[in-house]
Amino acid sequence: MDYLELNINLTKEDIMLKKAAHEFARDVMRPVSLQMDRMTAAEAVAPGSPFWEFKKKAYELDLHTILIPDSYGGMGLTPLQLHLVLEELSWGSVGLTVDLAVAAFPAYLASMVPDDEIVENIIKPFCDCRDGKIAGCWAITEPMHGSDTLLPNYPSFRNPDIPADCTATLDGDHYVINGQKAAWVSGAPYASHALLFCQIDPSMGHAGGGIFIVPLDLPGVKRGAPLEKMGQRDDPQGELYFDNVRVPANYLVAGPEAYEVMLEIILSATTALMGTCATGIGRAAFEEALEYAKNRVQCGKALIEHQDVQKKLFKMFSKVEMTRQLTRSVLEYNQNTSTPAEEYSVIGKVFGCQYAFEIANDAVQIFGGNGLTREYIVEKLFRDARSMMIEDGANDVLAIAAGHKVIHNYPRQD
Ligand SMILES: Cc1cc2nc3c(=O)[nH]c(=O)nc-3n(C[C@H](O)[C@H](O)[C@H](O)COP(=O)(O)OP(=O)(O)OC[C@H]3O[C@@H](n4cnc5c(N)ncnc54)[C@H](O)[C@@H]3O)c2cc1C
Repeated sequence: MDYLELNINLTKEDIMLKKAAHEFARDVMRPVSLQMDRMTAAEAVAPGSPFWEFKKKAYELDLHTILIPDSYGGMGLTPLQLHLVLEELSWGSVGLTVDLAVAAFPAYLASMVPDDEIVENIIKPFCDCRDGKIAGCWAITEPMHGSDTLLPNYPSFRNPDIPADCTATLDGDHYVINGQKAAWVSGAPYASHALLFCQIDPSMGHAGGGIFIVPLDLPGVKRGAPLEKMGQRDDPQGELYFDNVRVPANYLVAGPEAYEVMLEIILSATTALMGTCATGIGRAAFEEALEYAKNRVQCGKALIEHQDVQKKLFKMFSKVEMTRQLTRSVLEYNQNTSTPAEEYSVIGKVFGCQYAFEIANDAVQIFGGNGLTREYIVEKLFRDARSMMIEDGANDVLAIAAGHKVIHNYPRQD
């Protein structure tokens, strides 16, 4: 039995994809990620940073298109294959995996509501890109609005008295964008395009939003300094500023009438993907702890021979498996339906990221003092996993929103 795979139906193609993704994660992502972790945020995106070598190699392998259907030139992965590949990449580095996924976001969303000009100008050039220079980001968080922006159907979402920090106004055949997005926008320090969420109709509150594709070389766009942070230091982040930026009206991919529904669909995807990434980082921490426990001797025997350590390792292993099975089912279900079950994606994200953090925490404990040093990777995995509990929606806030939905809709079965 293969402890890495509780699925006897994987095809040869599935297994090859998983193997290739693992090799890339091991040989390219981990080493680059460890180097970037020691650099300043500015150094990490400066010319000559190993980050650019990672980008080039990932694009050469088409990994930037893992979310894009093959009809648009993407890899066209099945939901299961997407899960297999993302788990391996996140095993190598969750920060670099997030960077790759957000790079695809403008093209990914545009492929859901295709417009001929956007297919030609955005999706195709992105898929054909081989040097990493065409890359997206998704800009939703604002300086004054984090959780606010991720709670469709929540009472505050329709409150017109809560003004947004970034707005768009129609002027002829263009929208004019003004305002700011928070320093948390992954990829913002260098991205060529943003999938920008901003407010069009203030009378509807956050629900009056629009989703735009914004080329970031337009006049009036400015970027903030790359953000210094605790974990995922290999995922470059920073602010975006918009000063009367004129975007063609057809670059609006969803307006206020569709915004709330579209946001739910997007959150169903992002939270499921984040839960999938949690499988990879959790597994990485478990494997490090297992190996260390075999070699470190205390009280006359290897740590792994102490029953308490065995129990701890079994719990870590169980959490990886539970996360993998749930997030895989969620991805498969949601990608095969027009009404994705967001609450299940949220369970995958909330518990997956919580489990990944607990596994990384246990790994640090098993390493003892060594777990606190930068000599060993578990210290970085711990910081990276901690960040995931806030990334793409704070776990506690997502749980409140999804819980509200489940509690009010769960059918009693007599
Ligand atoms: C590594 C990382 C990557 C990210 N990448 C991106 C990105 O690519 N693009 C992007 O736009 N954003 C990104 N973000 C931002 C992220 O989505 C936000 O940080 C998140 O939504 C939380 O928003 P906030 O930080 O403003 O916290 P706040 O919204 O201020 O919340 C702080 C805390 O207050 C509590 N709280 C808030 N609201 C409620 C409520 N209604 N009920 C109860 N408690 C509440 C919760 O405990 C919450 O943790 C990223 C964040 C991280 C950490």
